[in-house]
Amino acid sequence: MTSMNSADPSAPDHQDTLHRRGLMFILSSPSGAGKTTIARKLLAADSEIKLSVSATTRPAREGEVEGVHYHFVDDATFDRMVEEDDFYEWAHVFGHRYGTPKGHIRNALKDGQDFLFDIDWQGTQQLYQKDQQDTVSVFILPPSIEALRERLEGRGTDSADVIDSRMERAKAEISHWAEYDYVVINDDLEACFAKVSEILNAERMRRTRQTGLIPFVRELTV
Ligand code: 5GP
Repeated sequence: MTSMNSADPSAPDHQDTLHRRGLMFILSSPSGAGKTTIARKLLAADSEIKLSVSATTRPAREGEVEGVHYHFVDDATFDRMVEEDDFYEWAHVFGHRYGTPKGHIRNALKDGQDFLFDIDWQGTQQLYQKDQQDTVSVFILPPSIEALRERLEGRGTDSADVIDSRMERAKAEISHWAEYDYVVINDDLEACFAKVSEILNAERMRRTRQTGLIPFVRELTV
């Protein structure tokens, strides 16, 4: 038996213990394409990534918790945050404003913390402009436009008018697919989730993110 075969499979390999820079992992999709479910599964399965909590002027829906789903703020507070340059990016969506507070994100990236962003194409473009090298974006497409409408109706939280306007907006959102690094079609939730996880793990291994490689390789070559 070789030493590799007898190695403890639970022991972290070198790749896991080397220092790396965190990344900003963006999931976008038209409303109802499954992005929020994928995001929740990823957060539950992967302890190295956490949600970036946005601020919004939209009122909380039933079951939403302040500081967990969003920071729910009034218009005056949002105005002040914009004036004080507190946002990485912000946008108008469905008549309300949404933004990503800079908070501690920049420092945490240096410490290897990954952040998940559930934002639309406008926010994605702004994040890219601010910090391209730390950003990885994934666009999730529905398998068909009929499936999208069914999923929006099935959620049961929105009126027919809201669903119609979301369908129009979905088509506009889909038109931005080519601005993303990766595109995944969500015709099967588990398969889609597996693909998104693979993208995240591969991006973590990018040479440029593995800041611990330089001292590691120096040791190998002395
Ligand atoms: P909802 O009101 O359904 O929670 O979200 C509506 C839309 O706002 C979603 O498409 C979501 O991706 C987007 N959104 C949520 N937070 C942010 C944010 O911080 N910035 C931007 N640009 N969009 C956001």
